[in-house]
Amino acid sequence: MPPTIEDLRTGTDHERVMRARDPGAGYDAIIAVHSTAAGRAVGGTRLWRYDSFDDALTDALRLSRGMTFKCLMARVPLGGGKSVILRGPDPIDRVGLLEAHGEAIEALGGIYSTGEDVGTTPDDMAILARRTRWVAGLPGKSGDPSPWTARGVLAALDACAEFHWGKAALDGRTVALQGCGAVGAPLARLMSARGARLILCDVDPARARGLAGELGAEVVNPDRIWDAQADVVAPCALGGVLNEDTIPRLKCSIVAGSANNQLATPEDGMRLFARGIRYAVDYVANAGGLLSGCGEMLACSRQQTEEGIAGIGRTMSAVLDASGRLGIPESEAADRLALERLEAIRSSR
Ligand code: NAD
Repeated sequence: MPPTIEDLRTGTDHERVMRARDPGAGYDAIIAVHSTAAGRAVGGTRLWRYDSFDDALTDALRLSRGMTFKCLMARVPLGGGKSVILRGPDPIDRVGLLEAHGEAIEALGGIYSTGEDVGTTPDDMAILARRTRWVAGLPGKSGDPSPWTARGVLAALDACAEFHWGKAALDGRTVALQGCGAVGAPLARLMSARGARLILCDVDPARARGLAGELGAEVVNPDRIWDAQADVVAPCALGGVLNEDTIPRLKCSIVAGSANNQLATPEDGMRLFARGIRYAVDYVANAGGLLSGCGEMLACSRQQTEEGIAGIGRTMSAVLDASGRLGIPESEAADRLALERLEAIRSSR
């Protein structure tokens, strides 16, 4: 029996939000399609244990909207979507629920295509591919997008550094990085190679210690990362980390990381701006993985993906210019630019 797909009413500007279920496989997921105005909706599959269904829904709605904005800012002819699989109690039937997810995606007829995200891997994408054509990031194809994401974050950080300090150099700068995972680790290596001193944390202490040993970095307790004496803070774990508690504690001049939805609320963009902290807007900075994945989906060459990564830096510079000119937070300047692009696409159709 294929999974059942039920449309949910969310009162948001999403084109479709669905709950897909297959109780036999322990599969329960939300697939959110925010916009297909620019092209097929794309967005990773997150496999995560949420406190409630509503928390999972909120995550899917925000992440899928963020994907629309990310595609628009990366000038990729794709739309925004996301799926979250609600992880049940262990042990889970990983293969069974991924195959069910593949069937659910296939049943949507190509309006949505996925890739890896928090809690899933390229090998998981190969399992999805047994059931659906609409998946990217397979091993041996564009593969793991994370190193590309790391490079994009670095390009966005360079734009912020250029704007704030007048030069993109990182030597002599200190970076406090949260989350030494698939993106955080290669990003830390790139920054270290550029002469930055690293302060690292991870809820998995062995992961932070291993990377710190490799890079000669310092490790701090995860709840102290926001107090670190650092020029740059790089959130590379989960969202909502820039908030009314953490922002007043920051000592840095720039925040640039890979995590999606770093701002807990839109007001937190203003909190950063009011403190004079430059913010590499998450969906601008972390588009490198999308660019590598759509290289596979849209049959772009590696050269085009490389150009896209360089474009992240230029887009971030445009956001910083607009923010400075209009006296608004970078987050708001980026939203305005993205919505202008969306309107232009809609009115040209
Ligand atoms: P990952 O799961 O490989 O790494 C996340 C790391 O953060 C893990 O090591 C985890 O232990 C750690 N972590 C979790 N909570 C933490 C906390 N409170 N304090 C410290 N460490 C914590 O995930 P990833 O692929 O590296 O993605 C990281 C972030 O970047 C996510 O928000 C993801 O959505 C975003 N992102 C990733 C990509 C990509 O290409 N992988 C692309 C765009 C955005």
